[in-house]
Amino acid sequence: MGLSEGQQQRLRLRVTPAAERAIRSGHPWVFGDSVKEENRPGQTGELAVIYDKENRFLAVGLYDPGSPLRVRILHKGKPATIDAQWWTHRLAQTVERRAGLFDEKTDGYRCIHGESDGWPALVLDRYASAYVLKLYSAAWFPRLHEIKELLIAQFSPERMILRLSRNIQDTARKTGLSDGQLLMGSELEGPVIFRETGLHFEADVIHGQKTGFFLDQRENRREVEQLSAGRTVLNAFSFSGGFSVYAARGGAKSVTDLDISAHALESSRRNFRLNLGEPKVAASRHDCIQADAFEWLARTGEKFGLVILDPPALAKKQSERTDAMHGYRRLIGSGLQRVDQGGILVAASCSAHISDKEFFDITQEVFRRSGRRFEELLRTAQPPDHPATFDEAKYLKCIYYRER
Ligand code: SAH
Repeated sequence: MGLSEGQQQRLRLRVTPAAERAIRSGHPWVFGDSVKEENRPGQTGELAVIYDKENRFLAVGLYDPGSPLRVRILHKGKPATIDAQWWTHRLAQTVERRAGLFDEKTDGYRCIHGESDGWPALVLDRYASAYVLKLYSAAWFPRLHEIKELLIAQFSPERMILRLSRNIQDTARKTGLSDGQLLMGSELEGPVIFRETGLHFEADVIHGQKTGFFLDQRENRREVEQLSAGRTVLNAFSFSGGFSVYAARGGAKSVTDLDISAHALESSRRNFRLNLGEPKVAASRHDCIQADAFEWLARTGEKFGLVILDPPALAKKQSERTDAMHGYRRLIGSGLQRVDQGGILVAASCSAHISDKEFFDITQEVFRRSGRRFEELLRTAQPPDHPATFDEAKYLKCIYYRER
């Protein structure tokens, strides 16, 4: 692709034996401290070729001198030329992976999910005819134009919006890029409306968390819909009410959204209004409570037939693990007290630094100590449009319990 790589000698690296093994087994990251040898200083976003100790081609990836994550692998195995044709093929494979996943009732989903789709640090989400490209590494900046053209040719979007993770926003500004920038199409007047299993939702693709909506919870929302008939539902950490609208369509008597953000609750009210054409949504009562969920759950006496706990990642880094474990224990403990006799608790964690086993163990321990008799209904992980091909990519887990 259009980098002026031809003039300079290719950037060649050698890495530690452990890193060699990791690359061979498909791990997509090479850390700066595993790099043993470089033939010259590399530039942000250029292709780095990694050779093994016998001087054989091992892999090629995107180089980033500004990050501890020095190389993000694009390709390993047989030597390959990373040219326009290669990128087109990579995109075709990514699209193929989602063939048949969604029908016309769903036009909001993840089209490209980073490393696990072969696009390290790059995400593409579709919201109807608006596509949101989110970058987590400055290594993509020099290629942004080419990638954008490739995506336009594949998806024919009406609009494309660029989102940037916080850590690369300063670097972005120096190259004239900014978070929320329109890459193509006309300015948006407001949030984008899209469909998920026939329900309508809004997404604030310019300012919203992630790319505007938690697309990764779709399958859990569908499960909640199946469990909600006749129940009073509490949706803690509701954000824009995704779980609640599904619960209402599933026949919930009432749904209560609980979130610390007034902005999120306003969006949830709008999402309810968008779905009043669904008779059961129209028949369900909808309340919003703006409060710190940890405090509110511990202090209220109210009980519900179904309680959903979907907090933000409590461990955003490794050093926060211990606090996060305490946090989940406390949250699930007080959430459980809000579950009425015969009720259901749904608890999710999106902390990549807490494993599914650790999270499920915490929930089981809390349930044992409660003295009540609960049966486990279901455990879920990431949906198919959010694949996870290596351990660090596994972040979402959810468990469902019902009192006997
Ligand atoms: N369940 C949502 C996603 C949750 S995102 C969905 O399916 O769309 C996490 C939400 O938790 C955000 O909306 C954020 O505002 C809220 N939040 C963060 N800390 C909180 C706290 N202490 N109390 C209540 N809500 C909180």
